[in-house]
Amino acid sequence: MIELPEAYVLSEQINKTLTGKTITAATANAFPHGFAFYSGDPAAYGPMLTGKTITSSNPGTGYTCGGNVEIICGDMLLVISTPIKYHEPGAKGPAKHQLLLEFDDGSRMSCTVQMWGSMLCYPPDSDTPPPVYTINKCPSPLSEAFDRDYFMWLFDGLKPSLSAKAFLATEQRIPGLGNGALQDILFNARIHPKRKLETLSAEDKERMFDSVRSTLAAMRDQGGRDTEKDLFNEWGGYSTVLSNKTAAAPCPVCGGPIVKEAFLGGKVYYCPVCQK
Ligand SMILES: [Zn+2]
Repeated sequence: MIELPEAYVLSEQINKTLTGKTITAATANAFPHGFAFYSGDPAAYGPMLTGKTITSSNPGTGYTCGGNVEIICGDMLLVISTPIKYHEPGAKGPAKHQLLLEFDDGSRMSCTVQMWGSMLCYPPDSDTPPPVYTINKCPSPLSEAFDRDYFMWLFDGLKPSLSAKAFLATEQRIPGLGNGALQDILFNARIHPKRKLETLSAEDKERMFDSVRSTLAAMRDQGGRDTEKDLFNEWGGYSTVLSNKTAAAPCPVCGGPIVKEAFLGGKVYYCPVCQK
């Protein structure tokens, strides 16, 4: 799976690198993976995509939602939530892949599942994707429509005992905001991942809103996080404050130790002093 900032980076790189290339072969499921999801029969991807030209790419903002890269290939749409790599003509391809596109100039694009990932292919004018995948079409946190009112509306009707992590990063409430980006969002908002929603003041929620927007924007603008690789297999330029890369380092604000623990299906990192 990929998260929102990297989906923005990948789609921008695809727009610059792959637009105009025509697909000469498409191979799906060459290396079966238990958590790779396709729409329909992967064997049909070849006939559906061969001969189609890539016209553009969106970070989940055209047809689906955050955490997906949408690639428009003629009259077909690819919706991808796995890392994507570009291979120049003559360059060595990946050892294993769950989707491989070959282009008319000899270059290739590959998808390799990380944990889990979907590579859907369907005509965009069919309006809804195949039932294999739930899509919560809603404003991206990096769009104008994701404003203060919209963010505060997300709290409506939720259990008061819900944690800050569960609020931000589960149930596809903010699609594409996953456990990775979450850590710096909560650190910048000075909110503990286990903090219950009922204890948040109006000011806390404001800080959370500001941090969701500004932290995700910084990650996107700096080419993705330094824990993830881009289309060209390069690490992102955004230095994560809290991640597996920095877990042993002291808190950059107070100098105290960072706590790392399992919480809600994934590790959380936090500073017990700075994040109340
Ligand atoms: Zn601290």
